[in-house]
Amino acid sequence: MILVLLGPPGSGKGTQAKRLVKERNWPQLSTGDMLRNAIAEGTPLGLEAKTFMDRGALVSDSIAIGLVDERVSRPDCENGFILDGFPRTIPQAEALDRILLKKGRKVDWAFLFEVDDRELVRRLSGRRTCPKCNAMFHVDTMQPKRDGICDHCGAKLIQRPDDSAEVISKRLSVYHDWTSPLAEYYRRQDKLIALDATRAANEVNQAISAALA
Ligand code: ADP
Ligand code: ZN
Repeated sequence: MILVLLGPPGSGKGTQAKRLVKERNWPQLSTGDMLRNAIAEGTPLGLEAKTFMDRGALVSDSIAIGLVDERVSRPDCENGFILDGFPRTIPQAEALDRILLKKGRKVDWAFLFEVDDRELVRRLSGRRTCPKCNAMFHVDTMQPKRDGICDHCGAKLIQRPDDSAEVISKRLSVYHDWTSPLAEYYRRQDKLIALDATRAANEVNQAISAALA
């Protein structure tokens, strides 16, 4: 099964993707994580991507498409995978369809995570991230067991540079302008499943399982 998780930053795509990885054993393909890894490794691609990401802009379609094209060809994607943060523009969605078509495959479902902007700002501004394993916490609602330390790997938590107040509002406007039209793209293909993602993570997880059953 090939799933696309579609929704604004802070809507919980990454959290749900990680649960699906555990339950179904499909890999999570997060272009955001791939780009942050490239930045951490200091590759030329990472250096280029960083200037866009730090100010909340999208990296070029060709970079994002190139990452996914390479990734979906690996053997662990054979039984299915979860796309988190890709596609983010109509050209990316069209490229994805072409890449999959060449392999005789297609997107099965696109889940749309619906959350209003006020709640997104609350979630993103309090978010703390593990730079090592990408786990996420929240200063009020999902505190780590030890202050400032990742529960899973013990690394020191950080606030992502793009989780600052100014960059959050930029990311939300980029989402509304560039990514939200994808809902219509998948609706026309009869693949869109909209979810109320303001609910607790467990409830969203149950809604996804119910839809897949
Ligand atoms: P979020 O969904 O919380 O904004 P991501 O980790 O998915 O976080 O993305 C962080 C940043 O990485 C984006 O703001 C953008 O700059 C870049 N990025 C990630 N995926 C893509 C993509 N598919 N196309 C263009 N830019 C992307
Ligand atoms: Zn960690």
